[in-house]
Amino acid sequence: MTTILNHIGGRFTAAHSGATLPVHAPATGEVFATAPDSDSRDVDDAVAAAQAALPAWWALGREGRSNALLRVAARVERDLERFAQAESQDNGKPVHLAREVDIPRAVANLRFFATAILHQQSEAHLMDEVALNYTDRQPVGVAGCISPWNLPLYLFTWKVAPALAAGCTVVAKPSEVTPLTAHLLAEACAAEELPPGVLNIVHGLGGKVGAAISAHPGIPAISFTGGTRTGAEIARTAAPLFKKLSLELGGKNPVLVFDDCDFDRMLDTTVRSSFRNQGQICLCGSRILVARGLYDRFKAAFVARTEALRVGDPADPTTDLGALVSAPHLEKVLGHVDLARTEGGTVLCGGERVQLPGALAGGWYMRPTVIEGLGPQCRTNQEEIFGPVVTLQPFDTEEEALALANATPYGLAGVVWTRDVHRAHRVARGIQAGIVWVNCWMVRDLRTPFGGTKQSGVGREGGWEALRFFTEARNVCVRW
Ligand code: NAD
Repeated sequence: MTTILNHIGGRFTAAHSGATLPVHAPATGEVFATAPDSDSRDVDDAVAAAQAALPAWWALGREGRSNALLRVAARVERDLERFAQAESQDNGKPVHLAREVDIPRAVANLRFFATAILHQQSEAHLMDEVALNYTDRQPVGVAGCISPWNLPLYLFTWKVAPALAAGCTVVAKPSEVTPLTAHLLAEACAAEELPPGVLNIVHGLGGKVGAAISAHPGIPAISFTGGTRTGAEIARTAAPLFKKLSLELGGKNPVLVFDDCDFDRMLDTTVRSSFRNQGQICLCGSRILVARGLYDRFKAAFVARTEALRVGDPADPTTDLGALVSAPHLEKVLGHVDLARTEGGTVLCGGERVQLPGALAGGWYMRPTVIEGLGPQCRTNQEEIFGPVVTLQPFDTEEEALALANATPYGLAGVVWTRDVHRAHRVARGIQAGIVWVNCWMVRDLRTPFGGTKQSGVGREGGWEALRFFTEARNVCVRW
């Protein structure tokens, strides 16, 4: 049994309450660790530690902070296999996915922001023979970072790295469902002598720890990734306190397949964009819109490819889909398939739980699922499912494709498949989303703005956007 602890002021501690939460391995359903069941008292301690560490961390300067973060990145990279095994154990994702994507990306996040600050420029606005204005960016203070369970270390570092690089100190809360790799990161920070109090990690439930971070007057900025409903709750608490907020929320992303696309490439990528990480990526395409002339061909090929995906042991290198993250989440996703049936949808493949043998019998596995026959307004096509479930809808014209794509309250990402460059630009511009991929998916350049529109969020992360978020711009005007 692994004991996960809070990391506050450089010390590893249990929660004030003394209570712990069980942490399950989705592959088996068994409890393999405990994490502190923290509350506002632990958050108070973390904020005090972060405030005490703030002046020295800022005074360390860009190079000092950069070097410290690069050391942590190097240690995570050195221990990549340990982190990958832990991520898989905690989340249920295939180990090879954690090894190839999650952990390397966490290292890249740390390196990217550690080096970005070395190249940051400040702005100056010269008023001829009147005055010189220059923009002085200072860290916003103690940053609150709250992250979800689907890409645990990857999204945790996506927030923590720019905050620390910008000169903030941090109070961070990983998901209570997947706390393990954040704990390993705290160990890496301690081993690399990141100054105490610079990164504080408080484990526990959203309603206690997350809510305490949202309400704490000592935390002027919160970067949150998670569900839309949680984002709204955080905004309700934080807005009257005039906190800066970056909210990266849910999605219901459309994939638009036009009949002039490169079919094989589109098919390969659409299988991935539907089911990678068991469909538990906010950027997964969950509504596949297909030109009517291509619909039957696409349906046959896509269903065949989906049926061939291997659901299995996350440790097996040939596994395509591991376990869903938790028993309640599996129930929720299966409930959505039942709902789709009652709404009149046809389940073309999947739709049921997978029972694996032996030690994995208690794991939370599900067959990837394809549904057709539903209109755009039904709940199945409106609500985020966040699992290995996609729907197919045909369209006749480009206008109809765009209307279907935009027919949800979400606006995170969209994918367009076409060889017509005019259409590519036209449709990319017409999709109401913060991120559009044309003839690809999940190609990520960390310099680009990342975030959603509509109910998918407020604000942008990535590149300078993230460093701007964690700093306060001040104008200094000097008379000529
Ligand atoms: P969630 O909203 O339940 O939880 C996210 C985090 O918020 C967790 O750490 C949780 O403990 C905490 N939390 C819960 N209640 C809180 C409260 N009242 N106050 C403060 N914090 C609270 O989301 P989840 O189930 O962990 O993650 C899945 C969701 O995340 C999906 O909706 C998915 O689309 C979204 N997501 C979005 C992005 C993005 O970049 N837009 C990326 C990944 C996941």
